[in-house]
Amino acid sequence: MPYERSNIQKLAAYTPGEQPDQSSVIKLNTNENPYPPGEAVMKAIASVAAEQLRKYPPPLAMGFRKVAAQVHGIHPAQVLATNGGDELLRLAITVFCEPGLGQGRGGLGVAEPSYSLYPVLASIQDTPVTRVPLREDFSLPADFAARLNAAGCTLAMIVNPHAPSGRLEPLETLQAIAREFKGVLLVDEAYVDFAPHDALPLIREQGLSNVLLLRSFSKGYSLAGLRFGYGMGHADLIAALDKARDSYNTDILSQAAATASLQHRDEARKTWQAVIQQRNWLTKELAGRGFVVLPSDTNFVLATPPASAPAAASLYQSLKDRGIFVRYFDQDRLRDKLRITLGTPDQNKALINALDALLRPAAASR
Ligand SMILES: *Cc1c(COP(=O)(O)O)cnc(C)c1O
Repeated sequence: MPYERSNIQKLAAYTPGEQPDQSSVIKLNTNENPYPPGEAVMKAIASVAAEQLRKYPPPLAMGFRKVAAQVHGIHPAQVLATNGGDELLRLAITVFCEPGLGQGRGGLGVAEPSYSLYPVLASIQDTPVTRVPLREDFSLPADFAARLNAAGCTLAMIVNPHAPSGRLEPLETLQAIAREFKGVLLVDEAYVDFAPHDALPLIREQGLSNVLLLRSFSKGYSLAGLRFGYGMGHADLIAALDKARDSYNTDILSQAAATASLQHRDEARKTWQAVIQQRNWLTKELAGRGFVVLPSDTNFVLATPPASAPAAASLYQSLKDRGIFVRYFDQDRLRDKLRITLGTPDQNKALINALDALLRPAAASR
């Protein structure tokens, strides 16, 4: 007889994108920033003393929280440091979703498709998931909050800008959902550094008590290997989450690097601008080859190959054979598409050259 709980037994674990060992691979599959962290950040890591490593890290990460609060114009009590943004997602489910409910009674509400980790985390908590399909253009349906309320959801997760489409919802849409939804609305802003606006006004100017924002250092700040993220929201929400986290959930190196990243945001901002330039370039190049590319406010694009090209699954495999990794999702509404992380100009050119080689025979045989 297995020892684990039955929900864990049944669980289909989250599948992360591939992390190949060879550095020769062009990795356009997991939305990392193609540029390294800035000099100030590397210096901050290097200047952590042996004595600091010997001791436990600051348990509240107060140094980081103060800097984040200052940067965003909120109070340190409205900031929670986490071990990657993913830990905030898990904490939010632990704190806001009742376990052991039957299907269709409360739990987590999500839009479909979106980050596939959300329902996995809900299954671990043994809490039900209500899935609301996005519209054809990946926008949120007008009855999103009403449907989650009807299902009794106590927590909703929206990723904005959206993954995997790249679409950015206007602030007014999020505001209307937050006001109508009876539970906590977590707005996952993992990609917001590449977007023209964020949802901070919901907590800073409007003081909405049920909005929680997620930020990550993995995308905008080139620190996916470090594992650091944070949440922002009403001080009461943050205090509740704070009770459920590990005592030392973020380590001294990541606290130092994350703090320096925010203090020297100009370093990271240069990479955001470069990525956005490449986003425009790649979108044009793909469109010129018959791909349908959704407008993106992130560091990736979701592209549908033209009917004359090999199917998306086959393009994914052929690119991989040539050492270029992109992301393919074998699921409804996505299996005819490729999600392509923006790389450096050279990497993006290599992708286009490879696509040209792969599309040519198909075009010639018509
Ligand atoms: C990357 C990502 C996160 C957070 O990732 P961490 O590496 O844990 O900070 C959260 N949500 C989405 C949609 C993401 O893509």
